[in-house]
Amino acid sequence: MPLSKEEKVVIQDRWRSVPISKQDPKERAHNFDEVSLGYTEEQALKESSRCLNCPKPQCVSGCPVGVDIPGFITLIKEKQYNQAAHKVKEKNSLPAICGRVCPQEEQCQKLCTIGKKGESVSIGRLERFVADFERQKGIASPAKPHLNGRKIAIIGAGPAGLTAAADLAKLGYKVTVFEALHKAGGVLVYGIPEFRLPKSIVQAEVDYVTKLGVELRTDALIGRLFTIEELFANGYDAVFIGTGAGLPKFLEIPGENLNGIYSANEFLIRANLMKSYRFPICDTPVKIGKRVVVIGGGNVAMDSARTALRLGAESVTLVYRRSKEEMPAREEEILNAEEEGVVFKCCVAPTRFLGDAQGRVTGMEYELMKLCECDESGRRKPVPIEGSKAVMDVDSVIVAVGRTPNPIIQSTTPGLETTKGGIIVIDPKTGKTSLTGVYAGGDIATGEATVISAMGAGKKAALNIHEFLTQNSAHPCASKNAALSEETPILAKGTNQKRLPEKGQRR
Ligand code: FAD
Repeated sequence: MPLSKEEKVVIQDRWRSVPISKQDPKERAHNFDEVSLGYTEEQALKESSRCLNCPKPQCVSGCPVGVDIPGFITLIKEKQYNQAAHKVKEKNSLPAICGRVCPQEEQCQKLCTIGKKGESVSIGRLERFVADFERQKGIASPAKPHLNGRKIAIIGAGPAGLTAAADLAKLGYKVTVFEALHKAGGVLVYGIPEFRLPKSIVQAEVDYVTKLGVELRTDALIGRLFTIEELFANGYDAVFIGTGAGLPKFLEIPGENLNGIYSANEFLIRANLMKSYRFPICDTPVKIGKRVVVIGGGNVAMDSARTALRLGAESVTLVYRRSKEEMPAREEEILNAEEEGVVFKCCVAPTRFLGDAQGRVTGMEYELMKLCECDESGRRKPVPIEGSKAVMDVDSVIVAVGRTPNPIIQSTTPGLETTKGGIIVIDPKTGKTSLTGVYAGGDIATGEATVISAMGAGKKAALNIHEFLTQNSAHPCASKNAALSEETPILAKGTNQKRLPEKGQRR
């Protein structure tokens, strides 16, 4: 019997995910309000009904923190939104953040059964829906676990550090997070712009972590204020390093020191953390002029280009040395940038910058590239086309070509094994470094990656710190790490009795 019209609509609906509403591109290109408006209850119910609740859910294995995805989606179907949020939080303490910025299309959603024939279930949008629902209703304070008498120091309040902190607090440890900046959140507050991830959302999830009993010490640069050795000497039983990759890379071409050329890091910190778009109410301006060029093809480049538009640039051109298909940015963000008016110039590489007598950038010389065989990254290698050089006029340039780890901890921690590039070497199964009792994870141990991979690393390290401390009732640094060589110095309790100042005390 042929299907009725209604039956056909139901079947078609099953293969298509419910689209999300967004601010109009013409309007949003001039404001810092959130672009994506999130699902309404009706949309969330419709999207949740597409989940097949597979007996062996592949999506869960694609989630680096192992959220029970069918479990929380089933609770949405039953309209138990708060319970759905709690289900997510069993594994993920930052769901409103992940629901907004995680590359789900490359992770959980990539493995969704329904995605094999049609569009995957929009797991990220549903995660955001339940997290926002819970926050709007007022997040109940989580129960504080009984303390087990042991102390952990976490260095860095990015997604890796916050996740490790939350998981260890839930296990009964007294956790202190030391953060170099005046705000917790890492890239979530200083890098990703307000229009993609509002700061109030990050703050609400940081608050949830502190409600678990985690102490947060901001303006505390470890390696300068105190070394890791001093943390142990002050009674911490283990240390987790989650200091990210906050040092910008440059192009290393002539003229790069001219005024008007920013690293994406500086540009985004000024715009986001220091809120330059509210200048003079906020006192850190950023001067960009009319014609802005952004160099790079990742999320950082998209964020910089879209921020420049919002700061009043008349034209923003994104220059990338490979083709659009090779851009590492999320597809959704590439589309958003295009809709807002960012112009893409692909297969183009800058060769030098030109300036005026005052030392301000006025032009960028570039050459066209052709793509040859794949390089070690698996992407086609760009090669210059001879005789293709040209110059374009610019008022500002934002360089977004990658980030490396900040070296402070590595250079002040004897025996901490690192790669040439300053990445801390860990056992990927446990997060253990070359020093007993010292663990690391996130961008500092992998190079720049994603929010959820940093969270997964924080989670793994937390579990292994717990196992390690459960097996070693004595102070961990009193015993030598079997993996260490003879000459590796051991941090021993009591080697340095410099006491940490109390919170708020100046040093
Ligand atoms: P970070 O987030 O870098 O946090 C490290 C923290 O440690 C920082 O707060 C830093 O101040 C602190 N710190 C550093 N040194 C010290 C010290 N010595 N003492 C004390 N504290 C210290 N990923 C996605 O999944 N989706 C996206 O859409 C996305 N967009 C991005 C956009 C931008 C602009 C950038 C820069 C990155 C983006 N990423 C995105 C990548 C993602 O944000 C990172 O992979 C992730 O934040 C890494 O987490 P982390 O905890 O390892 O480090």
